[in-house]
Amino acid sequence: MSFSDDVRNELARVIPRASCCRIAELNAFYDLEGFLLGDKNQVLDFNNSSPLVARKILLLLKGLYPELPTQVLVSKSRSRRTQICTVRVLGSEAAGQVYQDFKDQSVMGELKIPRKKCCRRAYLRGAFLSNGSITNPERAYHLEISTVQTKLADKILEIMASLGLDAGIIERKGSLVAYLKDGGQIVNMLNLIGAHNALLHFENVRILKDMRNQVNRLVNCETANVEKTVKAAMDQIRDIQIIDKAIGLDELPPKLREVARVRLENPYASLQEIGALMVPKMSKSGVNYRLRQIREKARQVDKMNTKY
Ligand SMILES: [Zn+2]
Repeated sequence: MSFSDDVRNELARVIPRASCCRIAELNAFYDLEGFLLGDKNQVLDFNNSSPLVARKILLLLKGLYPELPTQVLVSKSRSRRTQICTVRVLGSEAAGQVYQDFKDQSVMGELKIPRKKCCRRAYLRGAFLSNGSITNPERAYHLEISTVQTKLADKILEIMASLGLDAGIIERKGSLVAYLKDGGQIVNMLNLIGAHNALLHFENVRILKDMRNQVNRLVNCETANVEKTVKAAMDQIRDIQIIDKAIGLDELPPKLREVARVRLENPYASLQEIGALMVPKMSKSGVNYRLRQIREKARQVDKMNTKY
């Protein structure tokens, strides 16, 4: 089972306590995968591919309207690969009542988003249960809700924004997809819609991943430092060999000669370590200063050699 299925199954069991939130969540099911049918609106349908979610829709409806005439149908999707569960409200009076409650509740602004924050969270949960998915955090950070209706995509984005979620939007195969790519934002979304087990799993993976990245960064940094040190040492040894070949190390002043000798004998030593091997001991900057003088000398010698 995918991580997305885990989250869906968890959310299918979350039943909001307040009736305002129950209406809001049902409204999302209706907006995304529902229909008002018949010339006198005799039938209100809620569709979902998950039987568990269909069961939730039925529970929400029966909780709000105990006497509501309903029917549950199972059919194959057009592609015949998935099944569709339909929770149907029968009769124009019943369907009209549910539909009117949706309209009464969603009033804020042109997009008619729920006024109360608790209801916006419930709406998002319904939207995710209808057309949402989330990638396993081991692979990537990605959560999305898709719809074919532009206005609905705007509504979802507006609700997300009102809850501090900064979603992006793309078009894919004729659908509009609102998505989150940031790990922290996905955690906030899971929290807002009440997927607390999924949230714990997500956070654990995220912490492990962060730690792995940090370790990798440290290792890379360390490797880069070692490479730099080795490269510098190789350059110094080449300078010393140039002088040795051209005029002999004995021609160097004693302090430079001593540094050159210790460097040749300890090609992998750091400047600090070379300083410690000198008699008398020398500071890192002292060693560095003398190695620079050796470089100057090597350049002079090299120039002379190429001249004649
Ligand atoms: Zn509410």
